Amino acid sequence: MSQTQIHSTVDFTKPGKQWGYLAVPFSYNLGGWAQIRLPVVVIARGKGPTALVMAGNHGDEYPGQVAIMRLMRELQPEQINGRIILVPALNMPAAKAATRLSPIDGRNLNRSFPGCADGTVTEMIADYLTTVLFPQADIVIDMHTGGRSVDFYPCAHMHLVPDKNQRRQMLEGTEAWNSDYCFLYADIAGTGLLPVEAESQGKIVITTEMGGGETVPAAVHRITQSGVRNVLVHFGIVQGEKQTRDSLGLPPSRWVQALDRDDYQFAPESGIYETLVTLGDPVSAGQPVGQIHFLERPDREPVVVAAPSAGVLIASRAPSLVAQGDCVACIAHEVDPRQLP
Ligand SMILES: [Zn+2]
Repeated sequence: MSQTQIHSTVDFTKPGKQWGYLAVPFSYNLGGWAQIRLPVVVIARGKGPTALVMAGNHGDEYPGQVAIMRLMRELQPEQINGRIILVPALNMPAAKAATRLSPIDGRNLNRSFPGCADGTVTEMIADYLTTVLFPQADIVIDMHTGGRSVDFYPCAHMHLVPDKNQRRQMLEGTEAWNSDYCFLYADIAGTGLLPVEAESQGKIVITTEMGGGETVPAAVHRITQSGVRNVLVHFGIVQGEKQTRDSLGLPPSRWVQALDRDDYQFAPESGIYETLVTLGDPVSAGQPVGQIHFLERPDREPVVVAAPSAGVLIASRAPSLVAQGDCVACIAHEVDPRQLP
């Protein structure tokens, strides 16, 4: 296996707070020896676990990037027990271009794991995480939204990993986000995901879907920022009083899951998608959740997309324009959290 070509300007073993960047080598026509810089902050003090906190895995997902940039400036060594590594924009070229995929190599970072040390820019970043950053971490936090394509009810989410101890710690960490819904999801669109690689290394992996579309309401920024900080307090890495749904005067988080392929509905035809259900609302089996209109054939009846089973609409198509095969709705089903550990 070849060695990473990514150079870090911070020393991950040093105590205190360091600002720096990860330099990813690349070439373009006006820069033969250029580098892409991924800002990084590492803060370490005393003994304790290491949290690796990341966003911008998909470039067009900004609430997590904002939350991490705030943590980079706000957190000081005296508030830390252990170590925190903050990387706000994993796929920097995509974050600058407001795209999901890297504009440099066209790759989806979240389908590029475990990566390749001498591959494309995106593959090199994945490899660096797999071989350098994940092995140093106990807790791996990767903040997503639905990007421009999907609008999620803002939620923390996770995979149901088979290892019971890992699963229990992930369930507790996910719940510490204090989102209205905690969502158990399935990988219905390919392999090579960041969380799967981190899970396979035995890490406690906490991920989110903090809304989506291009607008980020203030409430979504707030739950992203309060959630990540509370998760870090929960694991004892950041000092502070842990908040619970109860201490916030809120009802318990509702655990929902979408583990069957049918829970994810795809556009049967291209057209204009009309959402018929508000995110987070209950749906009954067979209930239309959206319908597709045909600009060139307004005389045609719209094609209905129906919920295959009863549940909650947890995600919906964000742009009105849909192409055949786009995911347009995700229906999740309530699950008793006592059955999960
Ligand atoms: Zn994403």
